[in-house]
Amino acid sequence: MNTWDVVIVGAGAAGLFCAGVAGQRGLKVLLIDHSEKIAEKIRISGGGRCNFTNRLLDASAPQKHFISQNPHFCRSALSRYTPQDFIDLVQKHGIAFHEKHKGQLFCDHSAEDIIRMLLAECQAGGVEIRSGCSVRNVRHHTEGSPHYSLDTDQGPVLTTSLVVATGGLSIPKIGASDWGYRLASQFGLRLVERRPGLVPLTFDGAAWAPYAELAGLALPVGIETGDKKTRMHFDEDLLFTHRGLSGPGVLQISSYWQEGTPIRLNLAPTLNLPERLQEAKLRSKKLLGNELASLVPSRLADAWVSQDPALQRTAAEVPDKALSKLAEALSNWCLTPTGSEGYKKAEVTLGGVDTRDLSSQTMASKQPGLYFIGEVVDVTGWLGGYNFQWAWASGHACAMALCGAEIAPAHLPNG
Ligand SMILES: Cc1cc2nc3c(=O)[nH]c(=O)nc-3n(C[C@H](O)[C@H](O)[C@H](O)COP(=O)(O)OP(=O)(O)OC[C@H]3O[C@@H](n4cnc5c(N)ncnc54)[C@H](O)[C@@H]3O)c2cc1C
Repeated sequence: MNTWDVVIVGAGAAGLFCAGVAGQRGLKVLLIDHSEKIAEKIRISGGGRCNFTNRLLDASAPQKHFISQNPHFCRSALSRYTPQDFIDLVQKHGIAFHEKHKGQLFCDHSAEDIIRMLLAECQAGGVEIRSGCSVRNVRHHTEGSPHYSLDTDQGPVLTTSLVVATGGLSIPKIGASDWGYRLASQFGLRLVERRPGLVPLTFDGAAWAPYAELAGLALPVGIETGDKKTRMHFDEDLLFTHRGLSGPGVLQISSYWQEGTPIRLNLAPTLNLPERLQEAKLRSKKLLGNELASLVPSRLADAWVSQDPALQRTAAEVPDKALSKLAEALSNWCLTPTGSEGYKKAEVTLGGVDTRDLSSQTMASKQPGLYFIGEVVDVTGWLGGYNFQWAWASGHACAMALCGAEIAPAHLPNG
């Protein structure tokens, strides 16, 4: 009979990790994925090198790198399974890695190393993996010992516990689906509205025309959005694209940006631009464009100067007012995106299964025996390895709960 202690739907980061931990602790685990090729997001992550965690995740306030309607929900799991725990596992498997930027850890060779490690952990736990397997429907039975029956295209399956690890909606062509959200609704769980996160922002054709020719230009910027109460600021790189803006700074801010509101950019964050331009005016006989090109990338200087005839003369001839307008425009460039590149380019999905209907310690939902882990939950990390750390930590919390492990009081969150 096809009967299991645990069936996990979704063999991505969270599902594979949870399966390995639960299997190694003695549970009979089946892991199902509708894609023929599992773990595709791990494979393409971090430019093929998988930024698998972030060393700077703040153990005392891990929630500060995550977005959720309940920012404290993620604390319990993240403080019980830390980046160091995952690093220990990576080292145990002899995987070479390096730190790139702001605590971000990447494989030296390939993301395949992480997939191989997760599969080895599953094998050590006797986990059965069925890929290319779709689940048509799920029923909960309360007669006798409560269980779930799943009707799959590889036959019926019975299980005591069901774990949903189907991830978010981004990159549909590699297997993303809304199955997890629909299942949550089927059992009366609430959902937080979904939208693309860590996504390039787009701008209208006409208004964007002067900047479209900057496509390919990258530079460090300060970028922010929100009002006094909700202001978020990042110092990261910006990349101009044909349709708008991308790069780490824009991806980070996109998760906080609300449609119809502006973003503000400082294109020369390390300079006192008004002072430097005034100083050029007093000293220089060169064209202002040339002086500006010594302060910011020359393509950027050209794009700005070419828009205003008052700036197309020697630095000494440019009126003070035009100079201060230029300094303000470059150090506080305020612009309103018309949209984003959407789920086909987004790295993550914001929103998801409402944490009010889940236990932060076990990932169990209000529906008995039904668990949600990873990105399907309304917890979204910053760029930089935080999303995988959430997948590992939530998968671990769930696996420990399935095995009946006690949660040490020291590990319980304060809030
Ligand atoms: C291009 C890109 C690069 C990224 N780089 C990084 C990075 O370097 N670091 C980082 O921390 N995060 C990164 N992320 C985000 C990270 O990949 C995800 O947050 C993480 O994979 C979520 O894990 P998960 O297990 O919840 O979902 P996933 O890893 O997406 O796994 C979900 C699994 O469920 C399966 N599934 C979906 N629907 C069904 C269904 N109906 N039936 C059966 N199976 C189903 C899918 O096929 C998939 O295998 C990146 C994302 C993208 C798109």
